[in-house]
Amino acid sequence: MEEVYDLIILGAGPAGLSAGLYAARGNLKTLILEKGIVGGQLQVTLDVENYPGMDHVTGPQISDAMEAQTRRFGCEIMTGTKVLSVDLKSQPKIIKSDKGDFRAKSIIIASGSEHKHLGVPGENEYNGKGVSYCAVCDGAFFKNKELVVVGGGSSAVEEGNFLTKFASKVTLIHRRDELRAERILQNRFKANPKTDIIYDTVVDKIDGDFLGVTGLTLRNLKTGAVTDFKADGVFIYVGLQPNTEFLGTATANGSGSLITEAGIAVDETGKILANHKMETNIPGVYAAGDIRNTPLKQAVTAASDGSLAATMAIGFVEALEDSHLPA
Ligand SMILES: Cc1cc2nc3c(=O)[nH]c(=O)nc-3n(C[C@H](O)[C@H](O)[C@H](O)COP(=O)(O)OP(=O)(O)OC[C@H]3O[C@@H](n4cnc5c(N)ncnc54)[C@H](O)[C@@H]3O)c2cc1C
Repeated sequence: MEEVYDLIILGAGPAGLSAGLYAARGNLKTLILEKGIVGGQLQVTLDVENYPGMDHVTGPQISDAMEAQTRRFGCEIMTGTKVLSVDLKSQPKIIKSDKGDFRAKSIIIASGSEHKHLGVPGENEYNGKGVSYCAVCDGAFFKNKELVVVGGGSSAVEEGNFLTKFASKVTLIHRRDELRAERILQNRFKANPKTDIIYDTVVDKIDGDFLGVTGLTLRNLKTGAVTDFKADGVFIYVGLQPNTEFLGTATANGSGSLITEAGIAVDETGKILANHKMETNIPGVYAAGDIRNTPLKQAVTAASDGSLAATMAIGFVEALEDSHLPA
């Protein structure tokens, strides 16, 4: 008979690791399935200045500490295991992965999000040859080069600041007339002599040759003017999309809600709708971290979501077991 876990957590970012810690410490037989390596987006975050109690640490330092603590309480973590589909209506629930099937009484979806692409000509062609979505990973390849960062949120501005350590110049291209980034990050970027900002402008095309990126074709949204802009590399930070492929396509049901093929309710951007207890519309299935419709997407809120989801899963599994006891 195949093993049934009390809880399986999908994703080993801060939400999944925190959920694993609380669940294993709460005595649930818990497994985390992770398609890549442990840490989620923290693996590509250089300086984290706003995780309470941990001043000036790197993202990997936080996730390494979380992983060690979670494993210490007996949570299993299986990396390199991609979840492909789920059957959430059966009990136990079934998870199909590229490493086989798993069964669990309860599930926490903590699969986070990934960077959106611009979808312009040249982006795929020069991906890895000057186009990047990770300053921490690729910044050092651009010593004394001229770089462009696309976006106006905190990630774009923070990573732009980081890139000035290597680049001779970093130009931020933003489609609006003001940045959305936290004020402290904006001020730091604007005070740096190596930086510049071009507002009201979008990238129409990424240009290059056999060696890689050579520039961009830009379009001013107010004047319509199209210009060529020289650049040796482009870092793209234009938002995140939720990792929900394994839930299937979402379609509108009769009452106007969007429901995925796996039966989970999502909002119009694909993020999972969960209440303040992290409960989704399916009993025993919870969502935590960036994957859910939360107004703040940070490591600390993801960890908080994970702890709450695990606490609710403990209650669900205990109630399920009680219901099977003889009267
Ligand atoms: C560049 C950058 C800088 C940031 N800076 C900060 C900061 O300074 N402070 C801060 O608090 N936050 C910061 N954040 C945000 C923070 O990292 C995220 O909010 C947080 O990591 C979200 O955690 P999560 O666990 O919900 O999701 P994620 O970290 O996205 O983790 C989800 C995990 O699920 C896995 N997964 C996805 N799909 C599947 C599947 N099908 N099967 C199995 N596994 C799957 C992924 O591989 C990933 O490991 C930053 C993010 C970025 C990108």
